[in-house]
Amino acid sequence: MFQRGVVLALPGSADAFQNATWNDIAPYFEELAVRPLDRGNVESWLEDWSMLESLIGEAAALANFAYSSDTADHEREKAQLRFSSDIAPHAEEQRTRLQERLVALGYVRSGLETTVQRFRNQMELFNAANVPLQTDLAKLSTEWAKVIGAMAVDWEGQEKTPQQMAPFLEDNDRSVRERAFRKMFRPYVEHRDALAELFDRMYDLRQQIATNAGFTSFRDYAHREKNRFDYTPDDCLRFHDAVEEAILPAIQRLHERRRSHLGLERLRPWDLFVDPKGRTPLRPYRDVEDFVQSAGRVFGHVQPDFQRDFETMAEAGLLDLDNRKGKAPGGFCDWLPVRKLPLIFMNAVNVDDDVRTVLHEAGHSFHVFETVDLPLLFQRHPGAEMAEVASMSMELLAAPYIDRGHGGFYSEADAVRSRRWLLERAVTFFAHCASVDAFQQWMYTTPDGRDADARDRKWLELRRRFEGEWVDWNGLDAERIARWYYQPHFFEFPFYYIEYGIAQLGALQVWRNSLRDHGGAVRRYREALALGATRPLPELYKAAGARLIFESDGMRELIDVVENELSTIDA
Ligand SMILES: [Zn+2]
Repeated sequence: MFQRGVVLALPGSADAFQNATWNDIAPYFEELAVRPLDRGNVESWLEDWSMLESLIGEAAALANFAYSSDTADHEREKAQLRFSSDIAPHAEEQRTRLQERLVALGYVRSGLETTVQRFRNQMELFNAANVPLQTDLAKLSTEWAKVIGAMAVDWEGQEKTPQQMAPFLEDNDRSVRERAFRKMFRPYVEHRDALAELFDRMYDLRQQIATNAGFTSFRDYAHREKNRFDYTPDDCLRFHDAVEEAILPAIQRLHERRRSHLGLERLRPWDLFVDPKGRTPLRPYRDVEDFVQSAGRVFGHVQPDFQRDFETMAEAGLLDLDNRKGKAPGGFCDWLPVRKLPLIFMNAVNVDDDVRTVLHEAGHSFHVFETVDLPLLFQRHPGAEMAEVASMSMELLAAPYIDRGHGGFYSEADAVRSRRWLLERAVTFFAHCASVDAFQQWMYTTPDGRDADARDRKWLELRRRFEGEWVDWNGLDAERIARWYYQPHFFEFPFYYIEYGIAQLGALQVWRNSLRDHGGAVRRYREALALGATRPLPELYKAAGARLIFESDGMRELIDVVENELSTIDA
């Protein structure tokens, strides 16, 4: 297709790809695929490839940001779809070709070892027979999204989604909470058979993909496919045991405090999110402008550069934080690799969770700022085990400054409540994390995993194991089972979850260090972020002043620090 030796000039800005179709982009990949490659020109070839990926990535990120901000805009929707369903899958195919060329050349140098390792791994896993199966899975995913998207509950005459029941779980009126809880899971109970059947089809495809790639189970395949080079599935099983041993007792103590403050005989599942002292819900801001300003000042106390970074995003129009009609749900941080800027999208509705979300996503965005100057795109973004340390650490590092005395969101009394809730959630999260991972580890390694009733029974067994028996679920088996169908990861992102648990332990270590030496902990945190993806995971953790933890001693040590801190906060 191309004359060998002719180098195509790349555009200087992502604007050039704004309206591109795959046909406009394909020639650049083709040129990189046929350009003669040797050790003499491999660096300039890598630079060109990185630039091409940056231009596409930036144009796609901007299209998605624009669409998410206004999903009713037909033109924006079309542009977003062009990138996600036309350009992205084609680019993915071409990317594999280029990865193979680099691996085949046998070229490795300092700073590129982890990149080559990831490329080689993906190459080894590739099997042409799996391409159509992946397409089938994507179709099932769309089918699943339709089932979920059609779910509605009637709440006092208004149609709401099950997810929109969440705020009512914080209501001080217990009967409101119970009603919201039952409504939240009702559609999942009703659609259980349809969802189980959809899941069976996904299960079969996944096991077939694993077999084609030469693995005995999808569990082992997924572990490799996620580039998990530094821990094994057995380490994950150790992680579950350790949660049970080291964290469950702390969760019991938190529940006992809650039960006693609420003055209840037994906690029911709808009693877990309400303020135990019966106070009105926290309201962190007057308007979105106030929210942005407060967040900026909070970051300034963690590190002055973070405030500057956050303000740069605000000035560039790359913060879309408040919930409006027509916006897509959820929150995320994305980045513009050419302009070297991150962006944040979220749906703040003036609840305490908004504070955590903005701190979390800003942590991701500071990660982007720290890594933009690494020469190649491939060197910048580590796996979720480290990416979530950047975000989860920021939630904890910023917590001391969320009060108005520091220019933050809350009165001193409210800030104390918010800090307490953050730490409590950091502890109780492990029960959910362990159940989610243990459930998948089980289902993909036994034929029973293909049996819908056996799955539901196993989920109940795992919930009892990891949540203990202190919450009274009597008569609520159907709702408890529905919780797994409610979790999108099982359907859309299998095995993507243990990363959060691993990262939470990393973040708790960064935070523990900050209690002794705030400046030193933040400095190491930044140094670790700045390494991007250039070092193996254990080294990234080490740079941050942390280590990977899978055993109970390490967990217990951190939970002790959290409980100690909690004993001084709003006890
Ligand atoms: Zn995150």
